[in-house]
Amino acid sequence: MKGAPRLEIDLAKIHHNVRSLVSRLATVGISVTGVTKAALGSAEIADTFLRGGVAGIGDSRIENIEKMRRAPVAAHMTLLRSPMLSQASGVAMHADVSFNTELDVIAALSAAARKIGRTHGVVLMVELGDLREGIMPGDLEAFVHAVLRLPNIAVKGIGANLACLSGTSPDATNMAELTALADSIDVTCGLTLGIVSGGNSANLEWALDRPDTGRINNLRLGESLLFGREALHRKAIDGLHTDAITLVAEVIESKLKPSLPWGAIAQNAFGETPRARDRGAVSQAILAVGRQDTDPCGLVPPAGIDILGASSDHLIVDTGRRRVSVGDEISFAINYSALLRAMSSPFVSQMFTRQTKPYSLVARPAAE
Ligand SMILES: *Cc1c(COP(=O)(O)O)cnc(C)c1O
Repeated sequence: MKGAPRLEIDLAKIHHNVRSLVSRLATVGISVTGVTKAALGSAEIADTFLRGGVAGIGDSRIENIEKMRRAPVAAHMTLLRSPMLSQASGVAMHADVSFNTELDVIAALSAAARKIGRTHGVVLMVELGDLREGIMPGDLEAFVHAVLRLPNIAVKGIGANLACLSGTSPDATNMAELTALADSIDVTCGLTLGIVSGGNSANLEWALDRPDTGRINNLRLGESLLFGREALHRKAIDGLHTDAITLVAEVIESKLKPSLPWGAIAQNAFGETPRARDRGAVSQAILAVGRQDTDPCGLVPPAGIDILGASSDHLIVDTGRRRVSVGDEISFAINYSALLRAMSSPFVSQMFTRQTKPYSLVARPAAE
Protein backbone atom coordinates (compact mmCIF):
# COMPACT_ATOMS: atom_id res chain seq x y z
CA MET A 1 0.00 0.00 0.00
CA LYS A 2 1.46 3.26 -1.10
CA GLY A 3 -1.05 5.50 0.69
CA ALA A 4 -2.16 8.99 -0.29
CA PRO A 5 -1.51 11.82 -0.10
CA ARG A 6 2.19 11.16 -0.50
CA LEU A 7 5.30 12.90 -1.68
CA GLU A 8 7.23 10.96 -4.28
CA ILE A 9 10.85 11.97 -4.02
CA ASP A 10 13.27 10.80 -6.69
CA LEU A 11 16.66 10.71 -5.01
CA ALA A 12 18.46 9.94 -8.28
CA LYS A 13 17.24 13.23 -9.77
CA ILE A 14 18.19 15.16 -6.63
CA HIS A 15 21.62 13.50 -6.64
CA HIS A 16 22.09 14.64 -10.23
CA ASN A 17 21.12 18.22 -9.31
CA VAL A 18 23.54 18.27 -6.40
CA ARG A 19 26.48 16.91 -8.41
CA SER A 20 25.85 19.33 -11.20
CA LEU A 21 25.65 22.46 -8.99
CA VAL A 22 28.53 21.37 -6.75
CA SER A 23 30.84 20.91 -9.74
CA ARG A 24 29.78 24.12 -11.50
CA LEU A 25 30.26 26.17 -8.33
CA ALA A 26 33.60 24.48 -7.62
CA THR A 27 34.98 26.09 -10.77
CA VAL A 28 34.48 29.52 -9.14
CA GLY A 29 35.80 28.35 -5.77
CA ILE A 30 32.43 28.05 -4.05
CA SER A 31 31.50 25.12 -1.80
CA VAL A 32 27.88 24.10 -1.18
CA THR A 33 26.15 23.62 2.16
CA GLY A 34 23.11 21.41 1.48
CA VAL A 35 20.04 22.86 3.21
CA THR A 36 17.56 20.29 4.52
CA LYS A 37 14.97 22.51 6.24
CA ALA A 38 12.27 22.11 3.56
CA ALA A 39 12.73 18.37 3.91
CA LEU A 40 12.38 18.56 7.71
CA GLY A 41 15.87 17.19 8.24
CA SER A 42 15.21 14.06 6.19
CA ALA A 43 18.15 11.66 6.52
CA GLU A 44 17.51 10.31 2.98
CA ILE A 45 17.77 13.81 1.51
CA ALA A 46 20.81 14.69 3.64
CA ASP A 47 22.57 11.48 2.52
CA THR A 48 21.75 12.26 -1.10
CA PHE A 49 23.18 15.77 -0.71
CA LEU A 50 26.35 14.36 0.86
CA ARG A 51 26.84 11.71 -1.81
CA GLY A 52 26.42 14.47 -4.38
CA GLY A 53 29.38 16.32 -2.89
CA VAL A 54 28.09 19.04 -0.56
CA ALA A 55 30.64 20.21 2.02
CA GLY A 56 28.17 19.97 4.90
CA ILE A 57 24.54 20.15 5.92
CA GLY A 58 22.65 23.24 7.05
CA ASP A 59 19.23 23.51 8.63
CA SER A 60 17.29 26.30 10.28
CA ARG A 61 15.94 24.12 13.12
CA ILE A 62 18.07 22.53 15.81
CA GLU A 63 15.43 19.78 16.10
CA ASN A 64 16.13 18.75 12.49
CA ILE A 65 19.87 18.73 13.16
CA GLU A 66 19.35 16.53 16.24
CA LYS A 67 17.21 14.18 14.16
CA MET A 68 19.91 13.90 11.50
CA ARG A 69 22.58 13.28 14.15
CA ARG A 70 20.48 10.44 15.55
CA ALA A 71 19.84 8.91 12.08
CA PRO A 72 22.90 9.06 11.93
CA VAL A 73 23.92 11.45 9.19
CA ALA A 74 27.68 11.89 9.43
CA ALA A 75 28.27 15.49 8.38
CA HIS A 76 29.40 18.90 9.45
CA MET A 77 26.17 20.54 10.68
CA THR A 78 25.38 24.25 10.57
CA LEU A 79 22.38 25.89 12.23
CA LEU A 80 21.24 28.59 9.79
CA ARG A 81 18.75 30.50 11.93
CA SER A 82 20.13 32.51 14.83
CA PRO A 83 19.79 30.29 17.89
CA MET A 84 17.14 31.07 20.48
CA LEU A 85 18.77 32.06 23.74
CA SER A 86 16.70 29.30 25.36
CA GLN A 87 18.23 26.68 23.06
CA ALA A 88 21.90 27.61 23.45
CA SER A 89 22.94 24.40 25.19
CA GLY A 90 21.29 22.17 22.57
CA VAL A 91 22.91 24.18 19.81
CA ALA A 92 26.38 23.89 21.39
CA MET A 93 25.75 20.16 21.79
CA HIS A 94 24.45 19.27 18.33
CA ALA A 95 25.59 21.89 15.80
CA ASP A 96 29.21 22.39 14.77
CA VAL A 97 28.55 25.93 13.65
CA SER A 98 25.68 28.40 14.00
CA PHE A 99 24.88 31.65 12.20
CA ASN A 100 24.64 34.52 14.67
CA THR A 101 23.85 38.23 15.02
CA GLU A 102 23.46 38.77 18.79
CA LEU A 103 26.26 38.98 21.35
CA ASP A 104 24.07 37.71 24.21
CA VAL A 105 23.36 34.54 22.26
CA ILE A 106 27.02 33.96 21.43
CA ALA A 107 27.87 34.50 25.13
CA ALA A 108 25.32 31.81 26.03
CA LEU A 109 26.79 29.48 23.37
CA SER A 110 30.23 30.16 24.82
CA ALA A 111 29.10 29.20 28.33
CA ALA A 112 27.29 26.09 27.03
CA ALA A 113 30.26 24.97 24.92
CA ARG A 114 32.60 25.49 27.84
CA LYS A 115 30.44 23.32 30.07
CA ILE A 116 30.76 20.37 27.69
CA GLY A 117 34.40 21.02 26.84
CA ARG A 118 33.84 21.95 23.20
CA THR A 119 34.46 24.84 20.87
CA HIS A 120 31.44 26.12 18.96
CA GLY A 121 31.93 27.77 15.58
CA VAL A 122 30.07 30.95 14.64
CA VAL A 123 29.45 32.60 11.31
CA LEU A 124 28.47 36.24 11.77
CA MET A 125 25.65 37.34 9.49
CA VAL A 126 25.87 40.81 8.00
CA GLU A 127 22.91 42.96 6.90
CA LEU A 128 23.25 43.79 3.20
CA GLY A 129 19.81 45.25 2.54
CA ASP A 130 17.17 42.51 2.65
CA LEU A 131 16.38 43.54 6.26
CA ARG A 132 16.06 40.09 7.73
CA GLU A 133 18.97 38.92 9.91
CA GLY A 134 22.32 40.62 10.05
CA ILE A 135 24.72 42.84 11.96
CA MET A 136 24.86 46.33 10.41
CA PRO A 137 28.14 46.51 8.42
CA GLY A 138 29.37 49.50 10.45
CA ASP A 139 29.02 47.50 13.68
CA LEU A 140 30.81 44.37 12.45
CA GLU A 141 34.36 45.16 13.50
CA ALA A 142 33.45 45.96 17.13
CA PHE A 143 31.20 42.90 17.18
CA VAL A 144 34.02 40.61 16.04
CA HIS A 145 36.37 42.04 18.68
CA ALA A 146 33.75 41.30 21.37
CA VAL A 147 33.21 37.74 20.11
CA LEU A 148 36.96 37.08 20.09
CA ARG A 149 37.00 37.68 23.86
CA LEU A 150 34.55 34.81 24.47
CA PRO A 151 36.06 31.41 25.40
CA ASN A 152 35.13 28.22 23.50
CA ILE A 153 33.89 30.20 20.50
CA ALA A 154 35.65 30.15 17.12
CA VAL A 155 34.84 32.84 14.56
CA LYS A 156 34.59 30.77 11.38
CA GLY A 157 33.53 33.46 8.99
CA ILE A 158 30.90 35.91 7.86
CA GLY A 159 27.82 35.54 5.73
CA ALA A 160 24.79 37.25 4.28
CA ASN A 161 21.28 36.29 3.35
CA LEU A 162 19.34 38.13 0.66
CA ALA A 163 16.08 37.77 -1.29
CA CYS A 164 14.16 36.28 1.65
CA LEU A 165 12.15 39.14 3.14
CA SER A 166 12.41 42.18 0.89
CA GLY A 167 13.50 40.51 -2.34
CA THR A 168 16.86 42.34 -2.39
CA SER A 169 18.82 40.54 -5.14
CA PRO A 170 22.38 39.32 -4.69
CA ASP A 171 24.47 41.24 -7.22
CA ALA A 172 28.00 42.38 -7.98
CA THR A 173 27.63 45.37 -5.63
CA ASN A 174 26.42 43.68 -2.44
CA MET A 175 28.65 40.63 -2.97
CA ALA A 176 31.66 42.94 -3.43
CA GLU A 177 30.64 44.62 -0.16
CA LEU A 178 30.77 41.24 1.59
CA THR A 179 34.21 40.56 0.11
CA ALA A 180 35.43 43.99 1.24
CA LEU A 181 34.07 43.37 4.76
CA ALA A 182 35.92 40.04 4.93
CA ASP A 183 39.15 41.73 3.83
CA SER A 184 38.82 44.52 6.38
CA ILE A 185 37.90 42.19 9.27
CA ASP A 186 40.97 40.06 8.48
CA VAL A 187 43.18 43.14 8.73
CA THR A 188 41.60 44.94 11.68
CA CYS A 189 40.96 41.83 13.80
CA GLY A 190 44.06 39.84 12.82
CA LEU A 191 42.08 36.89 11.46
CA THR A 192 41.77 34.85 8.32
CA LEU A 193 38.04 34.31 7.91
CA GLY A 194 37.63 30.81 6.48
CA ILE A 195 34.00 31.01 5.42
CA VAL A 196 32.48 33.84 3.42
CA SER A 197 28.99 32.54 2.76
CA GLY A 198 27.26 34.64 0.12
CA GLY A 199 23.69 33.42 0.34
CA ASN A 200 21.11 30.91 -0.87
CA SER A 201 19.55 29.66 -4.11
CA ALA A 202 18.83 33.29 -5.04
CA ASN A 203 22.61 33.76 -5.50
CA LEU A 204 22.93 31.33 -8.40
CA GLU A 205 22.35 33.78 -11.25
CA TRP A 206 25.09 35.90 -9.74
CA ALA A 207 27.45 32.97 -9.10
CA LEU A 208 27.04 30.87 -12.24
CA ASP A 209 27.96 33.42 -14.88
CA ARG A 210 30.89 35.05 -13.16
CA PRO A 211 34.60 34.31 -13.47
CA ASP A 212 35.40 36.25 -10.27
CA THR A 213 33.30 35.76 -7.15
CA GLY A 214 35.72 37.57 -4.86
CA ARG A 215 36.06 36.15 -1.35
CA ILE A 216 32.67 34.38 -1.51
CA ASN A 217 33.52 30.69 -1.07
CA ASN A 218 30.24 29.14 0.10
CA LEU A 219 26.54 29.13 -0.71
CA ARG A 220 23.77 27.45 1.27
CA LEU A 221 21.44 25.72 -1.21
CA GLY A 222 18.12 24.00 -0.61
CA GLU A 223 15.50 24.91 -3.19
CA SER A 224 17.84 24.70 -6.20
CA LEU A 225 19.09 21.23 -5.25
CA LEU A 226 15.57 19.90 -4.77
CA PHE A 227 13.75 21.76 -7.55
CA GLY A 228 16.45 22.63 -10.09
CA ARG A 229 15.49 26.33 -10.06
CA GLU A 230 17.20 29.52 -8.97
CA ALA A 231 15.19 31.52 -6.45
CA LEU A 232 15.04 35.05 -7.90
CA HIS A 233 12.83 34.35 -10.91
CA ARG A 234 12.29 30.61 -10.37
CA LYS A 235 13.98 29.94 -13.69
CA ALA A 236 14.95 26.33 -14.41
CA ILE A 237 18.73 25.88 -14.23
CA ASP A 238 20.27 24.31 -17.37
CA GLY A 239 20.74 20.58 -17.07
CA LEU A 240 18.88 20.17 -13.77
CA HIS A 241 15.73 18.19 -12.97
CA THR A 242 12.75 20.32 -11.94
CA ASP A 243 10.45 17.34 -11.33
CA ALA A 244 12.29 15.37 -8.65
CA ILE A 245 9.43 15.78 -6.17
CA THR A 246 5.70 15.31 -6.81
CA LEU A 247 2.63 15.21 -4.59
CA VAL A 248 0.15 12.41 -5.28
CA ALA A 249 -3.45 12.66 -4.05
CA GLU A 250 -6.48 10.40 -4.36
CA VAL A 251 -9.90 11.21 -5.86
CA ILE A 252 -12.80 10.88 -3.40
CA GLU A 253 -15.59 12.38 -5.53
CA SER A 254 -16.02 12.78 -9.29
CA LYS A 255 -19.21 14.32 -10.72
CA LEU A 256 -20.61 16.56 -13.41
CA LYS A 257 -21.53 19.77 -11.55
CA PRO A 258 -22.57 23.31 -12.48
CA SER A 259 -19.70 25.79 -12.42
CA LEU A 260 -21.73 28.41 -10.52
CA PRO A 261 -22.58 27.97 -6.84
CA TRP A 262 -26.12 28.80 -5.75
CA GLY A 263 -27.74 30.24 -2.64
CA ALA A 264 -26.76 33.51 -0.93
CA ILE A 265 -22.97 33.81 -1.35
CA ALA A 266 -20.97 35.08 1.66
CA GLN A 267 -17.47 34.30 2.96
CA ASN A 268 -15.99 30.81 2.65
CA ALA A 269 -14.14 28.95 5.41
CA PHE A 270 -11.09 31.18 4.96
CA GLY A 271 -12.78 34.58 4.95
CA GLU A 272 -12.63 34.89 1.17
CA THR A 273 -15.58 35.62 -1.11
CA PRO A 274 -14.78 33.64 -4.24
CA ARG A 275 -16.14 34.78 -7.62
CA ALA A 276 -17.04 31.99 -9.99
CA ARG A 277 -17.42 32.30 -13.76
CA ASP A 278 -20.23 30.39 -15.50
CA ARG A 279 -18.62 27.77 -17.73
CA GLY A 280 -21.67 25.50 -17.86
CA ALA A 281 -21.43 22.03 -16.36
CA VAL A 282 -17.90 20.83 -15.56
CA SER A 283 -16.32 17.51 -14.62
CA GLN A 284 -15.41 18.25 -11.05
CA ALA A 285 -13.33 16.00 -8.84
CA ILE A 286 -12.37 16.25 -5.20
CA LEU A 287 -8.97 15.05 -4.01
CA ALA A 288 -8.34 14.14 -0.40
CA VAL A 289 -5.66 16.74 0.23
CA GLY A 290 -6.08 20.28 1.58
CA ARG A 291 -4.56 23.30 3.21
CA GLN A 292 -3.66 21.22 6.25
CA ASP A 293 -1.47 19.01 4.06
CA THR A 294 0.15 21.40 1.64
CA ASP A 295 0.04 24.90 0.13
CA PRO A 296 -2.57 24.49 -2.65
CA CYS A 297 -1.18 27.61 -4.39
CA GLY A 298 2.08 25.74 -4.85
CA LEU A 299 0.56 22.80 -6.74
CA VAL A 300 0.76 22.50 -10.52
CA PRO A 301 -1.78 20.05 -11.95
CA PRO A 302 -1.17 17.86 -15.01
CA ALA A 303 -2.16 19.31 -18.40
CA GLY A 304 -5.94 19.43 -18.90
CA ILE A 305 -6.73 19.71 -15.18
CA ASP A 306 -7.39 23.03 -13.40
CA ILE A 307 -7.44 23.68 -9.68
CA LEU A 308 -10.72 25.39 -8.68
CA GLY A 309 -10.06 25.81 -5.00
CA ALA A 310 -9.05 24.22 -1.74
CA SER A 311 -10.32 23.98 1.81
CA SER A 312 -8.66 22.43 4.85
CA ASP A 313 -9.13 18.86 3.65
CA HIS A 314 -10.29 19.08 0.03
CA LEU A 315 -8.73 20.09 -3.27
CA ILE A 316 -11.32 20.71 -5.97
CA VAL A 317 -10.30 20.34 -9.61
CA ASP A 318 -11.93 20.68 -13.01
CA THR A 319 -10.77 17.60 -14.91
CA GLY A 320 -11.80 19.00 -18.32
CA ARG A 321 -12.17 16.23 -20.87
CA ARG A 322 -10.50 13.69 -18.62
CA ARG A 323 -12.70 11.20 -16.87
CA VAL A 324 -11.44 10.38 -13.44
CA SER A 325 -12.91 7.84 -11.05
CA VAL A 326 -13.04 7.59 -7.30
CA GLY A 327 -9.81 5.94 -6.18
CA ASP A 328 -7.72 7.35 -9.04
CA GLU A 329 -4.52 9.13 -8.13
CA ILE A 330 -3.41 12.47 -9.59
CA SER A 331 0.19 13.64 -9.46
CA PHE A 332 1.06 17.33 -9.01
CA ALA A 333 4.28 19.20 -9.53
CA ILE A 334 4.99 21.27 -6.41
CA ASN A 335 6.97 24.30 -5.33
CA TYR A 336 9.05 24.96 -2.22
CA SER A 337 6.14 26.25 -0.17
CA ALA A 338 3.96 23.23 -0.97
CA LEU A 339 6.86 20.91 -0.11
CA LEU A 340 7.54 22.65 3.20
CA ARG A 341 3.95 22.20 4.33
CA ALA A 342 3.58 18.64 2.96
CA MET A 343 6.75 17.59 4.77
CA SER A 344 5.39 19.06 8.00
CA SER A 345 2.00 17.37 7.75
CA PRO A 346 1.51 14.12 9.65
CA PHE A 347 -1.06 13.13 7.00
CA VAL A 348 1.35 13.12 4.05
CA SER A 349 3.70 10.16 3.67
CA GLN A 350 6.98 10.13 1.80
CA MET A 351 8.04 7.62 -0.80
CA PHE A 352 11.66 7.75 -1.85
CA THR A 353 12.53 6.31 -5.24
CA ARG A 354 15.59 6.13 -7.41
CA GLN A 355 13.89 6.73 -10.74
CA THR A 356 11.35 3.89 -10.76
CA LYS A 357 12.70 1.55 -8.08
CA PRO A 358 11.03 2.05 -4.67
CA TYR A 359 13.66 2.88 -2.06
CA SER A 360 11.83 3.03 1.26
CA LEU A 361 8.48 4.03 2.56
CA VAL A 362 8.36 6.23 5.62
CA ALA A 363 5.34 5.31 7.69
CA ARG A 364 3.04 8.15 8.60
CA PRO A 365 1.54 8.52 12.03
CA ALA A 366 -2.09 7.46 12.28
CA ALA A 367 -4.58 10.27 11.82
CA GLU A 368 -6.35 11.46 14.95
C1 LIG B 1 16.67 28.52 4.03
C2 LIG B 1 17.98 29.16 4.06
C3 LIG B 1 18.89 28.93 3.03
C4 LIG B 1 18.58 28.06 1.83
O1 LIG B 1 17.69 28.73 0.97
P1 LIG B 1 17.24 28.12 -0.43
O2 LIG B 1 16.54 29.23 -1.09
O3 LIG B 1 16.37 26.95 -0.13
O4 LIG B 1 18.46 27.72 -1.16
C5 LIG B 1 20.13 29.55 3.12
N1 LIG B 1 20.44 30.35 4.16
C6 LIG B 1 19.59 30.60 5.16
C7 LIG B 1 20.01 31.50 6.27
C8 LIG B 1 18.33 30.01 5.15
O5 LIG B 1 17.48 30.26 6.16
